[in-house]
Amino acid sequence: MSSMHKRRHTLALNDGWACAYCGRALVCAHCEGKPETDINAATVDHKVARAQGGTDALDNLVLACGPCNRLKGAHAVPEGATQAHIRYARVWAKLTSLVSQGVRDPMSKMTPREKKILKKGVA
Ligand SMILES: [Zn+2]
Ligand SMILES: [Zn+2]
Repeated sequence: MSSMHKRRHTLALNDGWACAYCGRALVCAHCEGKPETDINAATVDHKVARAQGGTDALDNLVLACGPCNRLKGAHAVPEGATQAHIRYARVWAKLTSLVSQGVRDPMSKMTPREKKILKKGVA
């Protein structure tokens, strides 16, 4: 097992096969014989990005689905962002801060409106 693959299983052992951000059920693409780009393929996400001094220690890692992992990387508001994007980034920042505080079911802390914004995503 490669170390990333092993980590995926270790994280799943603690938190179950679910995306830390949206709660989507995840699978190990490697073991299920699915492409890593499958929407339900578990990816390992750094709560604090390596670029910001985050480490590869298990307590800085969570399982995330591909879309959330990518969105998180892109959650900074770009120049010329639309109102929708700014709204989304704000909700996203709240969600990621809940996750980094170790809140178990972060989605339960989001208001219905915030959930709607997250679900809609950034067009
Ligand atoms: Zn997700
Ligand atoms: Zn596996």
